[in-house]
Formats: sequence, structure tokens, C-alpha cells
Amino acid sequence: MTQRIAFVTGAMGGIGTAVCQAFAKAGHKVVAAYHPQFDNPDEWTKEMAAVGFTGFVLVSGDVSDIESCKAMVADAEAKAGGPIDILVNNAGITKDRMFAKMEKDQWDAVINTNLTSLFNMTKQVSANMASRGWGRIINISSVNGVKGQAGQTNYSAAKAGVIGFTKALAAELAAKGVTVNAIAPGYIATKMVLAIKPEVLQSIIDSVPMKRLGTPEEMGGACTYLASEVAGFMTGATLNINGGLYYQ
Ligand code: NAD
Repeated sequence: MTQRIAFVTGAMGGIGTAVCQAFAKAGHKVVAAYHPQFDNPDEWTKEMAAVGFTGFVLVSGDVSDIESCKAMVADAEAKAGGPIDILVNNAGITKDRMFAKMEKDQWDAVINTNLTSLFNMTKQVSANMASRGWGRIINISSVNGVKGQAGQTNYSAAKAGVIGFTKALAAELAAKGVTVNAIAPGYIATKMVLAIKPEVLQSIIDSVPMKRLGTPEEMGGACTYLASEVAGFMTGATLNINGGLYYQ
């Protein structure tokens, strides 16, 4: 297997951690990108070492700021010793509120972090991938970007935008050996979801045809597949990984 350099944003969150572990298991060199205020790299590195994962390249920055993304990628390439082959745009936030009460800053924060971040990060790596004739860009959308969710006009708009971005860039890069795909997870058992009030969480689980949450490892597996050689004919796709939850 060719060892690739994989850059994961939001690497220290629930899904990001599982993606980093899955890529490490697949033999890739993994750049774990974290936010300097939101994440704790020392604690995360210790937790990873405790379960047998070491050797991650760490970089920090803000995906909603293009200059920060430029600096993060330069830092990553210097530390990893080569250009980024695989980019996972995973960092994301929610600021839920019914539209009638949503403030402009809640709209802007979610659009900038969850959608504009794809422009900011992908700009730093896509031309280089195309000129080298190989690349994988994986964008994390959401079931709520596919179906729409009350209280999440900002998040649903951003995550639907992720799918549009994915399809358009896939068409631009299809002939260059670079694939661009999205994953639209349903409800995944991360700290964020497990913190939902038990009765609300139970009603969410009841609405999922499989009657369970997804696991971060299932997201890691999907990313490993999309990053692999054998996924080379898949581009512009959205993998809906949601236990059968579509329009319930
Ligand atoms: P999480 O909160 O555990 O992790 C998100 C990570 O993104 C955090 O480490 C955070 O520090 C980082 N981040 C946030 N803003 C950032 C910024 N401006 N710059 C850099 N990093 C930033 O969330 P998660 O559940 O692991 O979600 C990961 C992705 O999957 C998100 O895009 C989320 O919208 C999406 N998603 C999650 C679920 C779920 O059920 N957990 C479902 C559908 C989609």
C-alpha cells in the first residue's frame, strides 16, 4: 500500500478521532488539526497513546479563517515531509435556534465553520493534488443537510451546501485523479450526542429504523474506503450513513 499523508480537521472531536485512528490503522501518515481554544492536544495525545496510537502530526488553527488554513497546511506539509494527499473537512459546530429567534451571528458562525471552511481548506491542497494526479477530498455533511431539521436552518443550509460543493468540485477535478465525496452521517454516538437529555436521545433513537446510534468507527471506516485506491471511480457521491433515517 502506498502511504499517503492525510489531513483531518476537527481531528480531536468524536468523529475526527475515529477517522485519525482508522487512517493510522490503514498505514497513512495522519495530520490531526485542532482548534487552539476548543481542543486539548496534550490530553488527546495521551488518550491516543493509551489505546496504542502514536505518531500523529499535530497542527492548530481555525478553519473559518483562510489565512489560518494556509498556515496550518504549510506547517503540516513541513512536519509531515510532503504534500497533503487526503483532506477530510470534518470540523463543524452547531448553534441551534428556531429561525424566528436566530441571530445573525449564529447564522454566520455555522456557515463560516461548516461551509466556508471547505473553501478555505480545499484551496490550500486541491491544485497540488491535481498537478500530482492523485487526491482524495472527503467532506462531512449531515443527514440534517439532506432532509432539513427544525431549529437548524443555519446548520442544514451549511450541510446541504457541503453536498453542492462536493458535486461541483468533483466535476472539476474528475479528470485529474482527484475524487471529492461527502458523507452525511445520521446520529453518531459522540460526546455531543450522548450529552442530549436521555428522553430526547431516546426519541431520536426510536426514530432511527435501526434503533441505535451510529459509531464513530463506522465513520472512520467510510473515510478509509473513500480515501482508498479502490474508491477511485467514486466521485461527487454522498454516502448516507444513518441507520436508515431519511425522512422520518
Ligand atoms: P465534535 O464537536 O466532537 O468535533 C468537532 C471538532 O471540530 C472539535 O474538535 C472542534 O474543536 C473542531 N472545530 C470546531 N470549530 C472549529 C474551527 N473553527 N476551526 C477548527 N476546528 C474547529 O463533533 P463531531 O460529532 O465529531 O462532528 C464532526 C463532524 O461531523 C461535524 O462537521 C458535524 O457537523 C458532523 N456530524 C456529526 C454528527 C453526530 O451525530 N455527531 C452527525 C452528522 C454530522
